[in-house]
Amino acid sequence: MDNVTTVDHPLVQHKLTLMRDKSTSTKGFRQLMHEIATLLCYEVTRDLSLDLAEIETPMMPMRSRTLSGKKLVFAPILRAGLGLIEGMLDLVPSARVAHIGLYRDPESLVAVEYYFKSPTDLTERLVIVVDPMLATGNTAVAAVDRLKEHGASELRFVSLLATPVGIANLHSHHPDVRVWTAAMDEQLNDHGYILPGLGDAGDRLYGTR
Ligand code: URA
Repeated sequence: MDNVTTVDHPLVQHKLTLMRDKSTSTKGFRQLMHEIATLLCYEVTRDLSLDLAEIETPMMPMRSRTLSGKKLVFAPILRAGLGLIEGMLDLVPSARVAHIGLYRDPESLVAVEYYFKSPTDLTERLVIVVDPMLATGNTAVAAVDRLKEHGASELRFVSLLATPVGIANLHSHHPDVRVWTAAMDEQLNDHGYILPGLGDAGDRLYGTR
């Protein structure tokens, strides 16, 4: 599938299996989400550009590589996206965070916004949208719409699970947004939940059901 990277690293796949397992506790699920987020962050930042900086080691001067180019913004979609954010910030502690509050209307499955707060200078930044479940794609489209309205021009999307239908929906509106996901599941049920999936990511993360 174009513009999609499935992160098939064995550690990611192992942790994802534990997360899918319904017997995994809330505490375990949250910890695994944190760990897998770090691994996904490693992959989504793999091609960031580098410059050479003049430094001095205790032994001698040298030119050594440092990150260059656009600064990062992580944009978690509330509430389940919050589960991924700390693990990503562990790797990029200087990243800014844009919070996007969207819920799916249970009847229409349309995304409804209830909160949006982002850094003002999105134009200058690489924005990585974060939501564990890219299911119908409606929420992903709405989040990217809002970030682009606020000036974002370079965006990526990180999820744990995606579906072909969700990706097709996102890319029909935003073909420029590359997706990184730990796995692609084929189906959605009538309520827009991914099958086999891992259930409701927010509920499993916060123990609300
Ligand atoms: N959101 C979830 O939490 N789980 C799904 O399967 C789909 C959307």
